[in-house]
Amino acid sequence: MTNRNLERAERIRGGLYGLLVGDALGVPYEFHDASEIPAEHEIEMEPPKGFRRAHSGVPIGTWSDDGAQALCLLDSLRRDASLNLADFASQLLAWYETGHMTPDGKVFDVGIQTRRALSALQRGVDASRAGPDGERDNGNGALMRCLPVIFAASSLDEVVELAMRQGVVTHGHIRSQLCCALYAVVGAGILGGLSAMEAVGRAEREVYRRFAKAEHDDEVRLVLGARSEPSRGSGYVVDSLWSAIDCLLTTTDYEACVRRAVMLGNDTDTTACIAGGLAGMLYGDESIPERWRERLKGKELVERALAAISSGRLPK
Ligand SMILES: [Mg+2]
Repeated sequence: MTNRNLERAERIRGGLYGLLVGDALGVPYEFHDASEIPAEHEIEMEPPKGFRRAHSGVPIGTWSDDGAQALCLLDSLRRDASLNLADFASQLLAWYETGHMTPDGKVFDVGIQTRRALSALQRGVDASRAGPDGERDNGNGALMRCLPVIFAASSLDEVVELAMRQGVVTHGHIRSQLCCALYAVVGAGILGGLSAMEAVGRAEREVYRRFAKAEHDDEVRLVLGARSEPSRGSGYVVDSLWSAIDCLLTTTDYEACVRRAVMLGNDTDTTACIAGGLAGMLYGDESIPERWRERLKGKELVERALAAISSGRLPK
């Protein structure tokens, strides 16, 4: 159940571990249709015998592009809480080229728009214009990594601004940015002690209030209106957002939330990462099953990031 009395530090710890454990849990199940996913109680870091693992060369417990990019963003915010896009872009390139912020230096699961954006950056295109911006360029690659902005922001205005701006490096379309904003406002509400339902309701109102009845009216209506559509766990940013939020709203603990995300099939690691970050903050660090945390690789990177936050180097 929701615990309104969790300390901020426990929620931040839960959010970061929640997104990384969700990502790692989902990696072996990626690319499978929902009908091929094992039964809920069988969804573990190590899939049941006979299941055809995605990324079979990747050790169990390894986070993918989602987790690595979230850690890159957090590190960039640690250096400049107002987010220097060129610095963030150089972190993403370091991930892509040398495995920065991965547990073992290996890069896998790079998204389509992200690959195009990173090669634009390699050619010298400015970070603010690197992300493909067509309507069909709305994958979930900017959404999946944006949770850390709420640890750095000191107001809701900043949450929205940072969530949207971090996205443009790889995803330039307004639809992706609106989804990032909505998700980050949900996260900020949970970090502040709201229930999941309250946080989602407030985020919908905030996005509507800020962006509807203006230039982006159609896009706002499209994003908000998709809440009632069935969850598919796909790589499309709007579906990905609402799939993850539905998992959060229809379960009552971390484990059930991320398992439900994996059960949707398709982009399992990203749905579980997006949902897991929120669930980890909602229920706290202690709610993440010990057996999953034990299997998570690269914990020294996570602890270093958390130490940087708690030592105050990441302004509230
Ligand atoms: Mg991934």
